[in-house]
Amino acid sequence: MTSGSQTIKADSAAHEACDRSVDVAIIGAGIQGASIAWWLMRLDPALRVALIERDTGFSQASSQRSASSIRQQFSHPINIQLSQFGLQFLRESSSLLAVDGEAPAIGLTDPGYLYLARHEGAQSLRDQHALQRQHGAPIELLERDALAQRFAWLRTGDLALGTLGAGAEGWFDGPALHQAMLRAARAQGATLIRGEVVGFEMAQAGRSAAGAASAAGKIAALRLADGTRLVCGTAVNAAGAWARPLAKAAGIDLPVHARRRTVFVFSCPTTLADCPLVIDPSGFWFRPEGRQFIGGRTPDDDADDLPLEPNLAEFDEAFWTGLAHRVPAFEALRIENAWAGYYEMNLFDHNALLGAHPTVDNLLFATGFSGHGMQQAPAVGRGIAELIVHGAYRSLDLSVLSVARLTEGRRIVEANVIG
Ligand SMILES: Cc1cc2nc3c(=O)[nH]c(=O)nc-3n(C[C@H](O)[C@H](O)[C@H](O)COP(=O)(O)OP(=O)(O)OC[C@H]3O[C@@H](n4cnc5c(N)ncnc54)[C@H](O)[C@@H]3O)c2cc1C
Repeated sequence: MTSGSQTIKADSAAHEACDRSVDVAIIGAGIQGASIAWWLMRLDPALRVALIERDTGFSQASSQRSASSIRQQFSHPINIQLSQFGLQFLRESSSLLAVDGEAPAIGLTDPGYLYLARHEGAQSLRDQHALQRQHGAPIELLERDALAQRFAWLRTGDLALGTLGAGAEGWFDGPALHQAMLRAARAQGATLIRGEVVGFEMAQAGRSAAGAASAAGKIAALRLADGTRLVCGTAVNAAGAWARPLAKAAGIDLPVHARRRTVFVFSCPTTLADCPLVIDPSGFWFRPEGRQFIGGRTPDDDADDLPLEPNLAEFDEAFWTGLAHRVPAFEALRIENAWAGYYEMNLFDHNALLGAHPTVDNLLFATGFSGHGMQQAPAVGRGIAELIVHGAYRSLDLSVLSVARLTEGRRIVEANVIG
């Protein structure tokens, strides 16, 4: 969360959008909505694309409150592939997202993630490492001695091994990427409408070419809070942690819940050379952020829709002891600040929910990222845009992540969810 969020001027206030019609209406202009719009304009510059956003200051948007880190250390091939494209995109972002010769700086740095395992978790980490290597992720496996040699500041006595993606994983300025993506999408012709979508107007029951009644419904228009009606060919639910109430308005039960996560900013008088993003076996994480550090853990009491205030109580004795155990220099750490944001948590299986739901033909989803949505946004935006323009994925096949798996009862198993 290194860039300050700015209120972005919308192209038109919602009331000016009365009787307007667009080809694609994307609800939510966070990183997912912005990425989808950017790719749509790139694939078909003639498309009329509107982003509908209720808060153009993005005061609560996860894209402005993210830890914005990117890794290839996943256990499911699709998540590895999504991040591999994400990394490539980030590396090229200053030219891809330049507007009028102005290139955005997203501050990508790549010291890697360091996943640590004790004896009991070692075999699973070895298996995941093998799978990651098989999918082209350049992750190193470091036995305990190698870990101690590489990171002198790390306590390794209780560890068996670690896996490190130096040069292929790291972090970036997520808010800057979000703003740059949105700016570039608009420069290519996408429109930003300020307004809150409160409902959908359904078209008459469809008929197939053979004349049979189609079971799936179809959206004819969006209803905005101020009464505006926005006719659209396709709608996309990219409403982040608020995707569930929006889906409900279309009769769809979406298991995406707003779960608060607190990120602590702390300082330490000692410098930790080449410090990556460390995932401790006891569940917490930390990484450098400028001259300070940020870190967090899964809260003990995880409830929906908690107020977006950091929960300072989460920096308890156990968390502090854990940090100081892993890095003895952290005994002298000092809390400097904290912020909170919502994970758009998919309680079904903690992975992205993408594409069309079987019950509504022209309503697509891009949500449920459960803590890894920032890094997946470039590939997800491209995929959703391909679905809309070509009717199918053309580059990376994302169908395994189809939202239809909710009705099929098919879960994606991803071992490395940072809850
Ligand atoms: C603390 C934290 C740390 C994270 N760390 C990482 C990380 O290290 N790496 C990573 O890859 N990901 C991380 N994530 C996850 C990532 O930030 C999110 O997955 C991503 O930002 C989601 O983007 P989005 O566009 O779906 O949602 P958002 O950015 O929340 O945007 C959704 C937008 O929809 C708008 N909206 C909602 N409902 C309506 C409506 N009815 N009408 C109009 N507008 C509406 C909202 O106002 C909002 O602006 C983290 C998230 C948090 C909170």
